[in-house]
Amino acid sequence: MAKKQKHTTQQRKQLRERENQKIKDLETRIEEYNPKLSKAALFQDFPISEHTLKGLREAAFIKLTEIQRESIPLSLKGHDVLGAAKTGSGKTLAFLIPVIEKLYREKWTDMDGLGALIISPTRELAMQIYEVLSKIGKHTTFSAGLVIGGKDATFEKERISRINILIGTPGRILQHMDQAVGFNTSNLQLLVLDEADRCLDMGFKRTIDAIVNNLPASRQTLLFSATQSQSLDDLARLSLTDYKQVGTMEALNSKDSIATPETLQQSYIQVSLPDKLDVLYSFIKSHLKSKLIVFLSSSKQVHFVYETFRKLQPGLSLMHLHGRQKQTARTETLDKFSRAQHVCLFSTDVVARGIDFPSVDWVIQLDCPEDVDTYIHRVGRSARFGKEGKSLILLTPEEEEGFLRRLKNKNIEPSRLNIKQSKKKSIKPQLQSLLFKDPELKYLGQKAFISYVRSIYIQKDKEVFHFDKIPLEEFANSLGLPGAPKIKMKGMKSIEKAKELKNTSRQLLSLAKANDEGDVIKEEKAEVRTRYDKMFERKNQTVLSEHYLNITKTQAQEDEDDDFIMVKRQDHELIETELPELLIPTSKRAQKKALSRKATLAASGNPTKLKFDEDGVGRPVYELEDEEEFHQKGDSEKQKEEFLSKETHLMEQVDVEDKQVAKEKKQEKKRKRLEAMRREMEADMDDSEYEDEPVAYLGTGNLSDDIQSEDEHSNDERQPRKRSKYADSSDEDEEEQQLSNGNGKIIEVEEPQTLEDLESLTANLIGGL
Ligand code: ADP
Ligand code: MG
Repeated sequence: MAKKQKHTTQQRKQLRERENQKIKDLETRIEEYNPKLSKAALFQDFPISEHTLKGLREAAFIKLTEIQRESIPLSLKGHDVLGAAKTGSGKTLAFLIPVIEKLYREKWTDMDGLGALIISPTRELAMQIYEVLSKIGKHTTFSAGLVIGGKDATFEKERISRINILIGTPGRILQHMDQAVGFNTSNLQLLVLDEADRCLDMGFKRTIDAIVNNLPASRQTLLFSATQSQSLDDLARLSLTDYKQVGTMEALNSKDSIATPETLQQSYIQVSLPDKLDVLYSFIKSHLKSKLIVFLSSSKQVHFVYETFRKLQPGLSLMHLHGRQKQTARTETLDKFSRAQHVCLFSTDVVARGIDFPSVDWVIQLDCPEDVDTYIHRVGRSARFGKEGKSLILLTPEEEEGFLRRLKNKNIEPSRLNIKQSKKKSIKPQLQSLLFKDPELKYLGQKAFISYVRSIYIQKDKEVFHFDKIPLEEFANSLGLPGAPKIKMKGMKSIEKAKELKNTSRQLLSLAKANDEGDVIKEEKAEVRTRYDKMFERKNQTVLSEHYLNITKTQAQEDEDDDFIMVKRQDHELIETELPELLIPTSKRAQKKALSRKATLAASGNPTKLKFDEDGVGRPVYELEDEEEFHQKGDSEKQKEEFLSKETHLMEQVDVEDKQVAKEKKQEKKRKRLEAMRREMEADMDDSEYEDEPVAYLGTGNLSDDIQSEDEHSNDERQPRKRSKYADSSDEDEEEQQLSNGNGKIIEVEEPQTLEDLESLTANLIGGL
């Protein structure tokens, strides 16, 4: 806040009047501003306040970029704006300036509460926006706050009521709306969604809708992104009807322009899945004087590649980042990577969007992205703001044709590179020996294997991704694993069975054995040994470390609850996945359920169902008619036939309807399940999933004072836990802990429904089936 000086009443009045006059002038200039006639080139050509101009100047923002020149005047005029412009083209300022200016012209004070809400899909991006706001808003009097997930912090409840500009991730913002008493949104002037298409994605849909429901409809809304997939429905959800579309939106979709920066040199290389790590390693070895980002499709792969490559010491400093790390680690890595000159960062899509790393030389996509939009955002981490940059994507022979076609549809045509045979070097033997020596690494390898296979399975674009063509065995070997973890489809039934089995009492089991033909339970003992039993039996004779058993235990649990595929170690039978079949009603719950269903039927079945007649008298549905009345109606046989045909017809109708409903329910269930899996994968990116404790970075009233280090706010009271040496300061542990407590989310994969499904699934699944 600008320093308060002591003024006389008279002086104060004069100051106020002068300020009012300035605001009036600005308003007139805004109104008169005609974007078509005015050729603004600099920020100072715009009708914006001195405070903002000063902040911009001090941060060396002088000249306008195209999106800024086109969108800022419209936003200043109060229009809703849907802005699209390439990555690195300056969209952040395009929405921040109108936010600050609006509140300035409205003479916003602490007393007015929340004036603007800025939503970002990731914590990292929210922090970055906050930093830019702090820079350019240095001379304003507003307070700003950052609310993102992932940290324990004392929440200053009464402070949030005085925050004017709030920046945050969707889940955390909603949480505050629900919990903070003083969080009043009724005055809100502006809503901004950065990376708008991502914010409006399925993953965030419910959260964003709930947030928007809390906001006044009269607000102004600004949406920005480098890609836009917004349907009109999405825009209607935000009550965006009379909006202005700006930026290169049309150009983005036109035939002769591309959605990626001109200064970006894009290439691709065809590599079979098992050779990917060799190529990556060679690439790193030959780019030791570069800054690289490598995108992989899951945090488990990031973790594995990071840990193994570190051991191989390529001669370039390595970092890794994914959504399951603790927030402090994420922030630290981000910061270090930003400042480093020669470094390689392995990452998931958590930083694919929006993050403004300075001077990244290469963006490598080790795994094919789910769609072209993700491709555009990933490569957009390089070649920002007119700078040079390069990108390389590794495509398997199966993905190559399909994905290149998808890219070509958006005018993106990367050039093909070939691997020099002379430079080809395999790191497979090294990986194998690393994993052989270190069971923990091997475990990470198995997780990486599974998560990759799974990521392909849940891809929506089946023309690009072919789950059934993954060379499982070679892929496993390429990770250094002695063999492919056996993969088994876990249909609904088998999960149910596993659960039932778990609930079955020993007594019942022995009963079952006694009563049944004998081939039902093949176990020799009366009790069934679960894989845990076996595991613990092994424990006594095993040469493995205590710790390894701990992590495999977690995995066993996780596989059961979480994965549609299971690990069945080939080298040793540590985890037994086969469960004996049972033909009797197994669990107590199942028995109870069967019983109660009968009871319910008896209680509410037809015999006692009443229908009310005109006099309000309840009568059973099939009440017997008076005999005389019946005979008066004519021949009894005929009546019987009529009655039967009427009822049959009715039943048929009901049957058809029932079947339809059942079918829809089934489809809906399948859709939901796949969606849940996708979300699980997206958890690498999606912050809302992992937000537990509230955290708030609250403004002091002067933006320049507000950037504080994470740790100053941290109030980490968690007990230190025993960790794996590769524990990665990761939230993952908590997740696994949760799973082992039995509280974990259960992710199931639908049993194949059609013959086609079945064929494509079974054809290439190795063993296990
Ligand atoms: P986008 O959101 O479009 O991907 P950003 O807003 O992150 O792009 O801006 C990309 C880079 O360009 C940032 O480093 C930012 O500081 C810089 N930048 C943006 N606008 C200007 C400007 N008018 N003058 C100088 N640098 C700018
Ligand atoms: Mg941006």
